[in-house]
Amino acid sequence: MDNSRRTFLKNAALVSSTMAVSRSVSAQDTSATNYRRIAVEETFSVPEVLDAMRELVERDPDREPGLSAPPYVVTDTIRALYDLGEGRIAAMDAARVDKQVLSLWSPGVQVFDPAQGTELARLVNDRLVEAIRAHPDRLAGLATVAPQDPEAAALEIERAVSGLGLNGVLINSHTNSEHLDNPRYWPIFEAAQALGTPIYLHPRTPPVQMYEAVSDYTMDGALWGFAMETSQHVVRLLMGGVFDEFPELTIVLGHMGEGLPFWLDRLDQVSARPGMPRLQRRPSEYFRDNFLITTSAMFWDPVLEFCVAVLGADRILFAIDSPFAPAERGTQWLDAAPLSDADKRKIYHENAERVFSL
Ligand code: MN
Repeated sequence: MDNSRRTFLKNAALVSSTMAVSRSVSAQDTSATNYRRIAVEETFSVPEVLDAMRELVERDPDREPGLSAPPYVVTDTIRALYDLGEGRIAAMDAARVDKQVLSLWSPGVQVFDPAQGTELARLVNDRLVEAIRAHPDRLAGLATVAPQDPEAAALEIERAVSGLGLNGVLINSHTNSEHLDNPRYWPIFEAAQALGTPIYLHPRTPPVQMYEAVSDYTMDGALWGFAMETSQHVVRLLMGGVFDEFPELTIVLGHMGEGLPFWLDRLDQVSARPGMPRLQRRPSEYFRDNFLITTSAMFWDPVLEFCVAVLGADRILFAIDSPFAPAERGTQWLDAAPLSDADKRKIYHENAERVFSL
């Protein structure tokens, strides 16, 4: 055989193996496009809230540590947050996201005086419902509440979920450096449990009693402070007996559970020691039954595989955390993740449809 013939055969073999590969890739693509991709921690804002935040920070710059005024000019990020229409839908199409479950940008309305926070929460929920009604196939949403007036917050949960048809509630961790294990806030849990609607406990900057420890290196936010604040909030709920009082309450955590799945065995061991608060169940049992976690901004196979092993694919929901995390990376990652097709369907949409009544 001469060299050119040999080269031809080699190339033909390469071409045919490439075709085989591309056939199998396109077969996977076909099944991948069948996923209904629902992302459940997707952010928006409205000008009234950011204007009120600027006014608050100007009037009361020491309101709480880490609180800064939103940008005075409309940046690309702010434009993306304000867009509840065509621009958002186009970005979803580009990332192959079928539906976003929207929530107000942290810290929501939780930094305002109770009356102003309550009024803004109503405005935000009405605005959100308008956006959903314009794109009912593509958008859903979680209600905003002002926990600083717990009774008003409970009424707004009722109005927003039963009345307006929103799909749950989102609370940005602490309010005025207080946490929801404080029984003063339990009207909120009572309302959520009675309606069978979940509360998404979303991060925010740590409270005053923790803030100094993360005030350097810009580590008070997404780098570390958000997860530190939210995870300690959850340990307060667990150890404070919240789930003995509200056994049907559902809490959703972003960022793969804010580190807590990694800690469950340690929590069980230490909480069983003498002198610890007496609970009806072990922390890991509450975590497995009362919590779900989402993938927001944590697109990493080892963590996903660990969380599936610890909690099961029934307790994990897809989320991106747009526009702060790259949406395309999120869908590419989960499409290719080392899980069964059935588990991916649970994480992409079946769990979200069940938990958020979509
Ligand atoms: Mn977020």
